Amino acid sequence: MKIDVIRPALLPATSAFLAKQHKLLIDGNWVAASSGGTIAVEDPATEEVIATVQAGDRQDIEEAVKAARRAFETGPWPKMKPTDRAKILWRLADLLEQHSDQLAELEAIDVGKPLKKARTDDIPDAIAVFRYFAGAPTRLTGDTIPVSSPGDYHAYTVKEPIGVVGQIIPWNYPITMASWKVAPALAAGCTIILKPSELTPLTALRLAELALEAGVPAGVFNLVTGYGDTAGAALAEHRDVDKIAFTGSTTVGKRIVQASVGNLKRVSLELGGKSPAIIFPDADLDLAIAGTADAIFYNQGQTCTAGSRLFAHSSIYDRVVEGVADAASNLKLGHGLDLKTTLGPLVSRKQRERVQGYFASGREQGAEVVTGGDVAGERGYFVQPTVLAQTNRNMRVVQEEIFGPVVCVQSYEDDELDAIAKFANDTIYGLRASIWTRDLRTAHIMASKIKAGGIGINTHNYAEPAWPFGGYKQSGWGRELGKDALDLYTEVKAVAAKLS
Ligand code: NAP
Ligand code: MG
Repeated sequence: MKIDVIRPALLPATSAFLAKQHKLLIDGNWVAASSGGTIAVEDPATEEVIATVQAGDRQDIEEAVKAARRAFETGPWPKMKPTDRAKILWRLADLLEQHSDQLAELEAIDVGKPLKKARTDDIPDAIAVFRYFAGAPTRLTGDTIPVSSPGDYHAYTVKEPIGVVGQIIPWNYPITMASWKVAPALAAGCTIILKPSELTPLTALRLAELALEAGVPAGVFNLVTGYGDTAGAALAEHRDVDKIAFTGSTTVGKRIVQASVGNLKRVSLELGGKSPAIIFPDADLDLAIAGTADAIFYNQGQTCTAGSRLFAHSSIYDRVVEGVADAASNLKLGHGLDLKTTLGPLVSRKQRERVQGYFASGREQGAEVVTGGDVAGERGYFVQPTVLAQTNRNMRVVQEEIFGPVVCVQSYEDDELDAIAKFANDTIYGLRASIWTRDLRTAHIMASKIKAGGIGINTHNYAEPAWPFGGYKQSGWGRELGKDALDLYTEVKAVAAKLS
């Protein structure tokens, strides 16, 4: 399959940003990595190097943690008037909005995602998250506790910022994932060290610049670009880091937990998924087919909630397979910056090789390749959107997270909701599920039976700043977004006073 990879011109502001000497942000200063190492940042659609960033490692993490500790213990941020902290977060959101064209281009060229989506989804979503959490500093309240001997005691709780927080984010939604982590942590009064993925550090660098411009004090927001197994591991192990927030693979998530035991730091994890989308025979099939196709192909399938296991009742199975395969063939592969593109490349050569491995494994284990099943284009990390039919629970493609535009369709005969839920729950993950039906009873009973942190009814990859996001089982610990996210960045202090 040939692809015309046309890369339209960038805005002057984007080109200028790419050409910059990028540094680490430590204690309010832009500094070079102590090792002198750098990382080349690639455009995954052309395989060209588009920027160079610092390869920060253990020594730089050490400095960043020191700065964050100082800023937490003696700096103005945790003690700042809540309205002032709110104002700075709101100002940061305004700055992101002012630069949203540049940010959308950076995200599109760094990750490979369609610019149109970066403009309508990634950047506005990140801005909305900063605005949502800008409302938090003035609302972080504890409780007054009803005591068992009233009059003798007065008891209450307060929520205090947890302290120095390490935040490690992945490459699939770089600025959105940064906003989910940075906004609630700063709102709570914490100080942070952010480590973006080595593959996609660009929007995090721009975010850090804008945070300084918005008035975030020195040492509060530190940014260390670098590799996961050096900078990331050093952050996860560090004894003076009070909490680590991680989004990425379940394998690395387990390593983070092991690394945290030294000081029993708090850990929150947003990990993988193998999310079911279940179509019932009574569903609006046009809506369900379009919706479940988008559930897997959105962001080239590199979405932790991706609807990668599609279940269709046997009576509608053929129509669903055909409809989703049609939707796949209608996708336009190309450079993310090309406004006609609806499916970009995968993020890296490694990720493409991983997905190719699953094509081979699916074929070997007997899956029927209805469409796709191969790489695409002569350069760039493109793969064809792929529909695998006749799949079953014994196949690796059904059990393991592929993180590519590959959907496994399974048919079911049962009309018993219990049996259908059991089928859908047959996974180590529990991040998201969607139910496609016109029947309210089916929808809500299924919502109660599925073991997942998020349920969509006639929708799949839904997200909203106020809607908590996270997983059951091996999809993670804790909930990001919503008011639950503030629990990740606060300790509860209980105070009791004897009055009599
Ligand atoms: P990953 O290794 O889990 O990377 C996620 C983040 O963790 C990156 O910032 C990475 O840094 C860092 N990291 C890696 N090793 C680390 C360590 N030992 N200690 C601390 N931090 C570490 O994910 P990946 O290898 O890029 O992708 C592999 C698979 O993970 C994908 O195919 C997909 O299944 C899954 N994934 C899930 C999500 C999600 O949103 N749940 C996101 C991304 C990937 P570097 O990138 O610099 O190595
Ligand atoms: Mg890149």
